[in-house]
Amino acid sequence: MFYSRIGHSAVPSPELVVVNHSLAGSLGLNLEALHADEWAGMLSAAVFPEGADPLAQAYAGHQFGHFTMLGDGRALLLGEQITPKGKRFDIQLKGSGRTPYSRGGDGKAVLGPMLREYIISEAMHALGIPTTRSLAVVTTGEKVFRQGYETGAILTRTASSHLRVGTFQYAAQWGSGEDVRILADYVLQRHFPVNDSVGNRYLFLLKEVVRRQAELIAKWQLAGFIHGVMNTDNMSICGETIDYGPCAFLDTYDEATVFSSIDNSGRYAFGNQPHMAVWNLARFAETLLPLISDNEEKAVEAAQNVLEGFYLIYREQWLAGMRAKLGLFNEEHGDAELIQDLLSLMETNKADYTNTFLALTFNRPDEIAMSGISEFDAWYENWRARLSGQEESESSSFDLMKRSNPALIPRNHRVEEALKAAEKGDYNVMNRFLDALSRPYKHSAEQEEYFKPPEPSNTPYRTFCGT
Ligand code: AMP
Ligand code: MG
Repeated sequence: MFYSRIGHSAVPSPELVVVNHSLAGSLGLNLEALHADEWAGMLSAAVFPEGADPLAQAYAGHQFGHFTMLGDGRALLLGEQITPKGKRFDIQLKGSGRTPYSRGGDGKAVLGPMLREYIISEAMHALGIPTTRSLAVVTTGEKVFRQGYETGAILTRTASSHLRVGTFQYAAQWGSGEDVRILADYVLQRHFPVNDSVGNRYLFLLKEVVRRQAELIAKWQLAGFIHGVMNTDNMSICGETIDYGPCAFLDTYDEATVFSSIDNSGRYAFGNQPHMAVWNLARFAETLLPLISDNEEKAVEAAQNVLEGFYLIYREQWLAGMRAKLGLFNEEHGDAELIQDLLSLMETNKADYTNTFLALTFNRPDEIAMSGISEFDAWYENWRARLSGQEESESSSFDLMKRSNPALIPRNHRVEEALKAAEKGDYNVMNRFLDALSRPYKHSAEQEEYFKPPEPSNTPYRTFCGT
């Protein structure tokens, strides 16, 4: 019930336009073993590797709060690759054609959004944020109708698995209790190996998933990342960022930021992400209740305790990350206030999130837009006093900050610029950008051209779903 087998796609003329050599290497794939045309055929579902038995996965999900049946409507799982270090990864083609879960869709994807996922997922990986990754993009030679006719493309995505909160919801809704148990046992074995000493293994599963999500969302908030469509089908069980649709990074700091064109109510706004994660995890917990205990009341109480633990883990991780961003080695009373004051100042003064931390890292307060505003100057003095009160030297604080504050993020206007060039056949802009994004903590001179925030605009940046 968890999948449907999928056959070949008829792709007129697949062409490999981007390949991730370093990811291929770490997966243990030898790119030299095949000609580029053979790779293009294989990574567009035109030809399957020997022994492969591709499938589309079934799942459900709450989309903006509404429950519905979904599934891989435009993706297929080519298979699993075991790396030289013994780690197992799914290799999935996204945009590979219709499946039994396509509903009214054409099963296809177009070049811009697939390159966008490639750029942002690779940037996330380099920032140290758990994520699915991108191995390649192939153009199909087809025109696909979206806003107009666009270049058809397929992304090859790798993930520790593609199991989602929605996979559990699907099993709980349309399967038997035994189906949910089979899925839970599979997930435990694949992602959270246990022995009998853990006690209740399904409560343990819930705890682990909650912990990984709390750690993940803390990393998103620290980096200023907005996922944009945190539906339960877009929340991975193993704690990787998955499904890059209308996502984007903050420029100016504002908790209410929304980029998605369809998120009118701000459900998935930047500041709401931790709460939406808890909402999604509650949907996950509901599917596990019958496995946790035969006594419903006891199961609910145990699950609620675990869910409440999300905020503790999240807050601890976030504070630890913020301290590192401010060069603080130890914990002191008043740190939370110091951090909050800075964020509030950024919000009030529309300061650029990444560049404010960067200017502090290089001790160039004059470059901060808020410099000269008395509240900020007072904050800066406080922070300097807090730094000099530490045992560690000032230079070790600045080193910690360099390791914790990226020089660059994939700013929306630079992503758009790279996509525009690629759509005209020029991949140089994107390849240079990808190269700079792969070393965000290097702080080298060639990164400087990417520092500049977009010119202020009257029309807010918008991203689109289902592209
Ligand atoms: P997403 O917004 O990418 O998370 O997709 C939500 C659901 O819509 C998933 O079940 C997708 O497989 C499906 N979907 C998105 N685009 C298409 C498409 N062009 N054809 C068929 N299904 C699609
Ligand atoms: Mg999705």
